[in-house]
Amino acid sequence: MDPRKNLIGLSRDDLTAEMAAIGEKPFRAKQLWHWMYNRGETDFARMTSIAKTMRARLEDSYRVARPRAAKELRSVDGTRKWLFAFADGNEAETVYIPDIDEERGAVCISSQVGCTLTCRFCHTGTQRLVRNLTADEIIGQFMAARDSYGEWPTPDDGGRQLSNIVMMGMGEPLYNFDNVATALKIAMDGDGIGISRRRITLSTSGVVPMMARCGEELGVNLAVSLHAVTDEVRDRIMPINKKYPLAELMRACRDYPGASNARRITFEYVMLKGVNESAADARALVALLKGLPAKVNLIPFNPWPGAEFECPATADIRRFSDIVQDAGYSAPIRSPRGRDIFAACGQLRSESTRERRHADA
Ligand code: SAH
Ligand code: SF4
Repeated sequence: MDPRKNLIGLSRDDLTAEMAAIGEKPFRAKQLWHWMYNRGETDFARMTSIAKTMRARLEDSYRVARPRAAKELRSVDGTRKWLFAFADGNEAETVYIPDIDEERGAVCISSQVGCTLTCRFCHTGTQRLVRNLTADEIIGQFMAARDSYGEWPTPDDGGRQLSNIVMMGMGEPLYNFDNVATALKIAMDGDGIGISRRRITLSTSGVVPMMARCGEELGVNLAVSLHAVTDEVRDRIMPINKKYPLAELMRACRDYPGASNARRITFEYVMLKGVNESAADARALVALLKGLPAKVNLIPFNPWPGAEFECPATADIRRFSDIVQDAGYSAPIRSPRGRDIFAACGQLRSESTRERRHADA
């Protein structure tokens, strides 16, 4: 293992302090920042605006590293998925989902290896090993994805393929808030990666006490994994509901800093046959959202081997969508992307673990 410290993942202040500790002036940290995050440079030797002697010293003590792609899969629909391996051998998934019509797309980033929550429909929840990802591992996923598309230096905000970030990969981002916050602040920094907070969405299963901080400190768009409209059903499919029931969750949504009609909260709703997809459920959802600047994303359940759920019939999903839209909320049905490359969250990592077990046996 490389003992040199990775400079990726340090906040601007920490990078400045790190340089001060080796006797370098703050403007050196600024130069480094530009090379790392605007230019995407990983080799100190090519950071030509920095004095040669300093470059050599940096090389001795530091590195500018990305996670290693253990796997890269490309779907026929343009979706790309990576399994990134970190220094300790742990792995997490990252997905790039291009917009079908335009030159832009979202990078879906993981916040943890596995997840401590055990939502019944989620494959990641079945994985036992869990740890928080560090800030460099979180922002490193985005940077490695950008490497794949050669999108350095940072292009103008207009014509980017990797234009958006969604914290919707493996893990619960609000259970790893400090590292997620450091990584997202790096992503938002205008001298570097330069993705505006309007183009970043954080998805939570409903960690109520952390929601206000997320809005205040980061100001990113919020997505809430709702998936059920009664505590009885939500308790059953999302154990976190027992800790933070629906009434508390909806109150935290109403109080979310920065939510407005221009910046609505997204409610994700995985459609599960016979569980949450009836007309009565749709009407109860409308009642729950009353007065909230909200939009709904209907996600047909993405099946995985051993799952106890099925995806409802298309007509039932449509009926649900129509009821919610007739009440004035946008409620598109998300088309499944990358089905051919294990796009169900967490599936690629499990597949890799299984292959290794076979190889070891
Ligand atoms: N832990 C966070 C973010 C990651 S999950 C959260 O739960 O919000 C991203 C989204 O994918 C969540 O809305 C989750 O409920 C959904 N999801 C998980 N497994 C799914 C499956 N098999 N089919 C469809 N959506 C799924
Ligand atoms: Fe964790 Fe989100 Fe999956 Fe639930 S849906 S187990 S919170 S990753």
